[in-house]
Amino acid sequence: MRMQTKVKDDILKDMKIISESERKKAQQLLKQLSLSEKCSLLTGKDYWHIQGIPRLELPDVMLSDGPSGLRKQEGKADYLGMLPSKPTICYPCPSACASTFDPNLLEQLGIALGEECVHEEIGILLTPGINHKRSSLGGRNFEYYSEDPYVTETMAEALINGLQSTGVGCSLKHFCCNNQETARMINNSIVDDRALAQIYLRPFEKLIQRTQPATIMLAYNQLNGIYCAENKDLMDLGRQWGFQGFYMSDWGGVNDRFLSIKNGLSLEMPGMNKELCHQVEKKIQEGAWTERKLDQRVLPILEILVHHKNMQAKKEQPYTIEREALAKKIARESIVLLKNEDNLLPLSSHSSIALIGNMAKYPRYQGAGSSNVNTDTIESLCDFLPFAYYAKGYDENGHTNDVWLQEAEQLAKRAQVALVVVGLPLFYETEGSDKKDLSLPAGMRKLIERVLEANENTIVVVESGSPVLLPHLEKIKGLVFASLLGSYGGSAIAEILMGQVSPSGKLNETFVRSLSQIPILEYPRSLRNTYYIESIYTGYRYYDAAKIDVAFPFGYGLSYTSFFYSNGAKNGNSITFDLTNTGKMDGKEVVQLYVSSSAPFSVPKLLRYKKISLKPQETKHIELFWEREDLEEYFDPWILREGDYTFYVGSSSRDRQLSFQEHIDGANIEVPNAYQNATYVKELDLHDFHSLIAYEEKENIRPKRYGMNTTIQDLIDTNWIYRLLIRGIMKKMFKDDQDTYKNLIEEMPLRILRMYGVSQTTMEGLFEMLDGKWIQGWKKINQNEIKKVIHDLEGLHESEIQK
Ligand code: BGC
Repeated sequence: MRMQTKVKDDILKDMKIISESERKKAQQLLKQLSLSEKCSLLTGKDYWHIQGIPRLELPDVMLSDGPSGLRKQEGKADYLGMLPSKPTICYPCPSACASTFDPNLLEQLGIALGEECVHEEIGILLTPGINHKRSSLGGRNFEYYSEDPYVTETMAEALINGLQSTGVGCSLKHFCCNNQETARMINNSIVDDRALAQIYLRPFEKLIQRTQPATIMLAYNQLNGIYCAENKDLMDLGRQWGFQGFYMSDWGGVNDRFLSIKNGLSLEMPGMNKELCHQVEKKIQEGAWTERKLDQRVLPILEILVHHKNMQAKKEQPYTIEREALAKKIARESIVLLKNEDNLLPLSSHSSIALIGNMAKYPRYQGAGSSNVNTDTIESLCDFLPFAYYAKGYDENGHTNDVWLQEAEQLAKRAQVALVVVGLPLFYETEGSDKKDLSLPAGMRKLIERVLEANENTIVVVESGSPVLLPHLEKIKGLVFASLLGSYGGSAIAEILMGQVSPSGKLNETFVRSLSQIPILEYPRSLRNTYYIESIYTGYRYYDAAKIDVAFPFGYGLSYTSFFYSNGAKNGNSITFDLTNTGKMDGKEVVQLYVSSSAPFSVPKLLRYKKISLKPQETKHIELFWEREDLEEYFDPWILREGDYTFYVGSSSRDRQLSFQEHIDGANIEVPNAYQNATYVKELDLHDFHSLIAYEEKENIRPKRYGMNTTIQDLIDTNWIYRLLIRGIMKKMFKDDQDTYKNLIEEMPLRILRMYGVSQTTMEGLFEMLDGKWIQGWKKINQNEIKKVIHDLEGLHESEIQK
């Protein structure tokens, strides 16, 4: 991974949250630390704290998830969002935030989260997650911004700037190529340099340069054969781009502890014992590593400790009405209107409305996993449409029965409009597990079918963090994608449905028509190697280039009013035009500028976008600029290629209201035959992929002996006694509907036990026992450590998952 750096010194900002005096203070303090004090900083104090230095009156620094609101755990801790946290506002999920296409709102969200952190004395918020949505099946898509790196980068930039302006640090995560949840702790993402540079690393590069994140969280997975937390090339790259903060691991994401520290990691999280610290201390004493290098790892942590001490003097309001209003505003602006035949929407309060679906009462408002927020307020749509007649339709798992179906059908028959609220139940969309398909639960599909038969004026509202497939899409007249809207989604959806506000959200991810349109269908669970064969042909860049007939393209979203684009002109690196609201309502349009080129192995891409607010009949003059380097592509180095370029402006990636051609002189590059154009992407094989990437195939299959990276699944597969034992424990721990958690646990490597404080010696004893050396292994095992693991797991079992 060479990834030529393009950073000019003058654009490198100083790390925003650390002042010059704090930096100097940290440098002075470093000189006063003993070797063991320095080493003590390398691993967390516990689950949620960076270790402070009491002797120097430097307090511990608390970390907390997350993106949709704080998950401050004051009691028992976990990283799956299963145990309770302090109640707070749940904001719309990051994917919904991106659908606003309004970075200003993200900046305000950053400030709101930051102020709450200051009040709660949290020094670092573990957000934003900026991984690319490589496939709509990705289990964590609700937590990421987009299938477009530019949208991701601009959204995250605004959020970080807002957050860090309050003095709270962010953690840019997960660096890099954590694009699947399947086997995420052991999987190896194999990616060619071009896709890495243009798609996967791009937002990290830009955000390091533009925001100076306080910390970067390294991904669980391996990147081209090396675990991210020990990937020197990757961490060095961040430094070349100007990263001045510190690298931390994801929770339990360290494979070889010393190697990680040696190669650039500063902080192992969580810190459940101090083994790593002793190990590093010993290496230095033995001369196997140097204290000078250790200082480089420790200094940025020390800077955060000094900064955090100063922050403690600040106090913020615990809760403000403005934050509530902001959560609602983001929700409202993120809702995407996908269909509106016969102008069925907005609804009139005089029409009789059948409101059908359990989610109209008990909304799906957030995804599961570490981003899970414990909130006291969950608005239900029913409360905001009191005049509508309600029928349940299905239960919380999406199951239905004849009674509910009949009731819904009868109600729909009698009403002028049928409004069906559906979505993905909690465990369909969760960190740690990818989706198998994009379908709604069978009960909901049946319900939609029956309601459509009963009433041709049917509107469907979808609550999910990523695209779904809808049955009989052509018959659904009104379709509203409400995503996961947090605490205040109920009123936001009602305002859109009733026309108090015109919808202005746009899709950050393409809605395909069928599963088979997605270029990546399988996450190879057993192989542990994921080949990014499609290279740069991902998301709309692929669907548009290959002219796939998708259901709704990237950037798409309707309004209750209409917009007219006129007077377009192109002048060098800028396009100007007039935008007029030709309808009868106030409205907002997201104008989008794309570029495509005739060069082979190139993809269309979003260059710029802007959200414009217009009153009826109002016209605004718009100008969109770009830099010449925005047109460059990565062929080691970045180059501008010769070709006929088309610049087009419209309201989605497929809508060309204004279009301009330009021939650009540049380099001619030979590209592998198989990758000339997008048409055959689905037929590419490993042989083709190797024409892009000189990757030396390493066997990444199950290790021969039991060890740190043996997964629970490996144990199940290799020995029937272990299989019975594990299945028994799982049965006790999880309920029947918690398959996703079971999968997650099965894919975990044994090294996860270190997260519960299990020592290296006990681990070795365990491996020996697994290998049949019972007595030898048993002697090494510290039984108290094992008892603690069992106790902690029982805690999880007893917990009520925050729905
Ligand atoms: C997630 C991180 C999260 C961490 C702490 C991990 O499982 O991947 O995004 O910040 O847990 O909860």
